[in-house]
Amino acid sequence: MKLKKLKNMINEIYSNEQRSVQRKELDFDLVIVGGGISGVCAAIAAARKGTSVALVQDRPVLGGNGSSEVRLWMLGATSHMGNNNRWAREGGIIDEILVENTFRNKEGNPVIFDMVLIDKALAEKNISLYLNTMVYDVKKSDNRNVSSVHAYNSQNETEYLFNGKYFCDASGDGILAYLAGAAYRIGAEDTDEFDEKFAPDKESYGEKLGHTLFFYTKKTSNPVTFVAPEFALTKEFVEDEIYRVKNPNYFNPMAIGCKYWWIEYGGRLDTIHDTEEIKYKLWGVAYGIWDYIKNSGKFPEAETMTLEWVGLFPGKRESRRFVGPYMISQKDIIEQRNHYDAVTFGGWSIDLHPSDGVFSSKNACNQWHSKGIFQIPYRCYITNDLDNTFIAGRLISASHVAFGSTRVMATSAAGGEVVGTAASLCIKNNWKSTDLMEPEKITILQKELIAAGNYIPQLQIPEIDNLLLKAKITTTSVLKLSEIPFDGEWKVLAQSAAQMIPVGKGKFSNVIIKVNAYEKTEINVQLRISSKQFNHTPDTILETQNIEIKQGKQEVEVQFTAQIPHDCYAFVCFMKNENIELKFSTYRISGILSVFNKVVPAVSNWGKQIPTEDIGIEEFEFWCPERRPDGQNIAMKISPSITAFGENNLTSIINRPVEKPNVWIADLPDKSAKIFVDWSEIVSIKKITIFTDTDFDHPMESVQWGHFDSRMPFCLDEVSVYDDNNLTIARIQNNHQSRIEFNLPTAINTKKLTFEVSNSYEHIPMSLFGINIS
Ligand SMILES: Cc1cc2nc3c(=O)[nH]c(=O)nc-3n(C[C@H](O)[C@H](O)[C@H](O)COP(=O)(O)OP(=O)(O)OC[C@H]3O[C@@H](n4cnc5c(N)ncnc54)[C@H](O)[C@@H]3O)c2cc1C
Repeated sequence: MKLKKLKNMINEIYSNEQRSVQRKELDFDLVIVGGGISGVCAAIAAARKGTSVALVQDRPVLGGNGSSEVRLWMLGATSHMGNNNRWAREGGIIDEILVENTFRNKEGNPVIFDMVLIDKALAEKNISLYLNTMVYDVKKSDNRNVSSVHAYNSQNETEYLFNGKYFCDASGDGILAYLAGAAYRIGAEDTDEFDEKFAPDKESYGEKLGHTLFFYTKKTSNPVTFVAPEFALTKEFVEDEIYRVKNPNYFNPMAIGCKYWWIEYGGRLDTIHDTEEIKYKLWGVAYGIWDYIKNSGKFPEAETMTLEWVGLFPGKRESRRFVGPYMISQKDIIEQRNHYDAVTFGGWSIDLHPSDGVFSSKNACNQWHSKGIFQIPYRCYITNDLDNTFIAGRLISASHVAFGSTRVMATSAAGGEVVGTAASLCIKNNWKSTDLMEPEKITILQKELIAAGNYIPQLQIPEIDNLLLKAKITTTSVLKLSEIPFDGEWKVLAQSAAQMIPVGKGKFSNVIIKVNAYEKTEINVQLRISSKQFNHTPDTILETQNIEIKQGKQEVEVQFTAQIPHDCYAFVCFMKNENIELKFSTYRISGILSVFNKVVPAVSNWGKQIPTEDIGIEEFEFWCPERRPDGQNIAMKISPSITAFGENNLTSIINRPVEKPNVWIADLPDKSAKIFVDWSEIVSIKKITIFTDTDFDHPMESVQWGHFDSRMPFCLDEVSVYDDNNLTIARIQNNHQSRIEFNLPTAINTKKLTFEVSNSYEHIPMSLFGINIS
């Protein structure tokens, strides 16, 4: 950035003419309004395609509700690891951001996350970042096209006119699409429109989610007093009327930081134009609750607690939703329907809240999960009315019920990447946003998204260009999983536990486990799979056995007779028995997990989802992993061994486990693993992309939750690539990212490449999801 230095003192005399603020008119390929996570990901995606982008954000930081100004933790399909969506973290740019944030900020400090986002945006030379710049008006060139937006920055006293070829509304409330005249909705659809049985009762439940304002607390070493402001709710009112303060699932006076997402209000009001009034009310609630904690006399343990921060404006959940050629609705989510133009996915529960918010006596949220993740079509990211304007974030074309799931930040972010990539394709090819709905064009977009590390579930597309497909691939070793070593702890079977094992069609293996029984008992073992091949909900029981166990330590062999119908994950389930301990393993292996039939209150997982009435939601059990450092595998011998980890996985376009692990894994003792790629003739190589395992099962909440690892333990930390003369053509050390891209300064010609890989974790074999060479 070049700045003009002022050399002389300015001493202007009175002017008869009224002065005006500085004005700037600027031209861009793509103008993005709103720098929440959806706008940020749209901007980075477009910039990396060579598109010049103006990212216009009215706040001093990026991230919207995920910034330190609101402090929400970014999440999506992983759902805090509390439902059955295994390996479901969003890929692409949001993955890169969250992996980077976890590396730099595993404690989840919101201020550091701000810095990570700003750093990412500033690193892109094609992004011009306009912080503190608020868009307030729109100009159109014709009925269906926006030509520019007006914005103002009070910090630098500058009025901007941003001209663009294409636009993206990622502003949350939808200021751009609204001013440009696009059709939109606020409130809930009737059940009949999309056959949504979960559509709320508009009177008793309400039609909109409200705003929330957080406060942060911390413990000090001395007593701290608090005098409540006049506008705070009284502590008596808080005690009598806010029933959540009596529920430990919601309320913990000693909580450090803040997780009171249920301080919600405004769902019955105009969540755009009444926002200031809603804010005052929420301040009253927040300070009232703090007064209740500090001064009601009920929580002497909070004597040394103090307020560190209180939100200065609320986080907004719901306002306008724009109408596109397709409106995603409840059945798309619950039935996991397929769409020819699927471009990304969601997986958060359908999560509606009573519009009375904190003053409601109903549960603060009503969350219902689907059995797995669901596709989101491209048609949800455009409007019916505007040819050069995309929509991203919480305002996409979704019914109120579906919005309950699609609104969360990682899902919004993945949609942002779709929009940035789509806009770049439109700019390059002079297409309208609706042109991309054509089947052959949508395939181009889908391929670009996948090449950039995104995942689109159940997508059938032709292979992506990859020189690896023409090569013979060999490796120093391939894991044949015959044993998950018996070197871990003994753990009581206090909750039902299962080992997930990838299996092929045919008879299932026999397993031997180690059991320690406190007394003579029986162990109930079940072999389960998922009713949908690509899901990880163990809702189909293939076989059940009750095996007698004598007192003491022993090996137990389970001989299964069931036939597995297709490639999938089998769940070897050991049902709860508190008289038994199982032996676990310290070895962790890509694509292998243990799961437990446990509760995760944060996402309304009570072990089993049982709708009390017919609301179009399925009943099923939750089997979820434990977070590291827990979550060890159940040690076992497996015969015949599992052979799902071959080098053929390296060419797959799916770089995460789904119905099979899709990963090459070296043998456990092979600590200097290599991959050899041989072509029958010389090939010219310009770019190599490698997809490592950064544990897509780990949710990586951006702030407040904290993580055990800063670097995901499965991830390769060093990769070197050699040509046929054994010269190093690329190398990365200390890697922590999922996707490594080597852009070679000049193309190299070779008949052979050797990849030397390493991972510093002793009990984790080397693994790699994929390699793309072009
Ligand atoms: C209390 C609460 C709890 C939630 N819980 C979760 C959760 O646990 N996990 C999760 O992932 N999601 C959660 N959500 C949902 C999530 O935060 C939002 O749906 C998400 O932030 C939407 O992303 P977005 O990019 O569309 O919008 P935002 O994050 O709102 O970003 C939009 C940005 O555009 C800016 N903007 C608005 N108008 C203009 C303008 N005129 N000019 C320039 N810029 C403008 C805004 O300042 C904002 O920074 C929660 C939301 C709330 C309020």
